[in-house]
Amino acid sequence: MPPDPDAVLRRLTDRLAPRERDLHHALWVASTDARPETSAARQRAEEAWLAVLGDPGLFAEVQGALAAAGTGADGRRTRRALEQANLDLLANQIPEGDRAELVALQAKVEHAFSTVRGRVGDRELANNELERVLAEATDTGERRAAWEAGKQVGAAVADDVLALVELRNRVARERGYRDWFAFALAAGDIDEAWLERTLDEVEAATREPFLAAKAALDARQSARFGVAVEDLYPWHYGDLFFQRYDGEGEADLSPLLEGTDTVGLTVATYDGMGLETRHLLERSDLHPRPGKDQHAFCLDLDRAGDIRVLANLAPGEEWLDVLLHEVGHAVYDDHIDRSLPWVLRRPPQPLVTEAVALMLGRLRRDPEFLVDVLGADEAAAKALAGPSREVLRTGQLVFARWCLVVIGFERAMYADPGRDLVGAWWDLVESLQGLRRPEGRTAPDWASKIHLAVAPVYYQSYLLGELLASQLDQAVRDRAGGFVGRPEAGAFLAERVFAPGAIQPWRDLVASATGSPLGPAAFLAGLAA
Ligand SMILES: [Zn+2]
Repeated sequence: MPPDPDAVLRRLTDRLAPRERDLHHALWVASTDARPETSAARQRAEEAWLAVLGDPGLFAEVQGALAAAGTGADGRRTRRALEQANLDLLANQIPEGDRAELVALQAKVEHAFSTVRGRVGDRELANNELERVLAEATDTGERRAAWEAGKQVGAAVADDVLALVELRNRVARERGYRDWFAFALAAGDIDEAWLERTLDEVEAATREPFLAAKAALDARQSARFGVAVEDLYPWHYGDLFFQRYDGEGEADLSPLLEGTDTVGLTVATYDGMGLETRHLLERSDLHPRPGKDQHAFCLDLDRAGDIRVLANLAPGEEWLDVLLHEVGHAVYDDHIDRSLPWVLRRPPQPLVTEAVALMLGRLRRDPEFLVDVLGADEAAAKALAGPSREVLRTGQLVFARWCLVVIGFERAMYADPGRDLVGAWWDLVESLQGLRRPEGRTAPDWASKIHLAVAPVYYQSYLLGELLASQLDQAVRDRAGGFVGRPEAGAFLAERVFAPGAIQPWRDLVASATGSPLGPAAFLAGLAA
């Protein structure tokens, strides 16, 4: 008897859904109340969840059911759910011994990232203090010391990250893939040849505008620090990796944000699009306190309406961007059709929800937002329009070039971990970001970026998310004329992007919602404008 696809899907859901819910609950508790007990409970929940996802028997059952599933209209939904489940399980088919080693090594590196503090003289500084020096200090020596301190964690973890790379490659090769880079893309349903072409296109099209924006920035930094342009080094930019551009001077939003309430602004922005957020924010944990994760994220706990945002709100533009962004993830999850099979009640690929969140975060600089939500007068909004566009544009150029560095480096590292990685890193940083390698520097600076250790081969999602954010933004503006105060915009997103969940592969969803397959055209057009 061939397996009954519906029965296999039910069995999979019965095993996986409770484990995922337990994990999400444990994760929420550990993030909002960090103690050894809550962290241990989180780890146990994660192991139980991984044990189901990594079960080779279940994987074989799903593959058998997929082969037996019909292609007719009746069986389509089941077939699609099994395809999605197949990818989720594939990504976790790691032999038990390897998995234990992987989890232990990853935990060790994570621990190092949360405990190693950069040393400046006899002082140890947290990353946000180092970032503050790079944002504010004008003394080159002080900046250089902060930058070097931020890289010290690299030397502490490099050997362990390399061991992780070797282990991941072994797992990937056992499954018949070239290396972990190829395996991770396949499990994420991203075609490697298409990705290469897209990255090449982005690189070629951003090169000139990036170099022009950087030349202007270099001139300003040179004047600010009293250093010749030829003597600018990586520590003369605003953050540890030159991945951000926050703008300055006339682009400053803070006079307009003075005395405003970030939560209220966010609710008003989504209200204007006809998207209700109060019930989501009620469940959320938005304000800083001791014993709480210092970052921000959105979590769909049960794929049945329990959706929460964690944030650490502070006044100012940065946290306004973060809250608009995280609430974007939340309204997405909230509108996914709950009559879909559990497996499909999620975005079809992380890059799609990332794109939505990025797009909605950009609204903080939308001229209509400045007037209708922030209450700026027309003259102030007009004065900010040009500088705002420039901040977003330069920020996108800087971030895109940085993404190309990380993606290119990971590809090279997984292809040949034994190569000269320090040289490979600086070749990419010099050619793509236009930064200068400090003379004689041999430290493994590549290893100081936490993603390489704990979120491997994920950076392409950020860059593809930026491309899709622009493409989706264009589609919304074509249909609704904009976002602010336009319920048509929210309705379009809810019906065409959110509700379908993963009923279609992400490529098809993008094409049907925006009218064309994902590509860099809208992103590049936005940079040219
Ligand atoms: Zn996000």
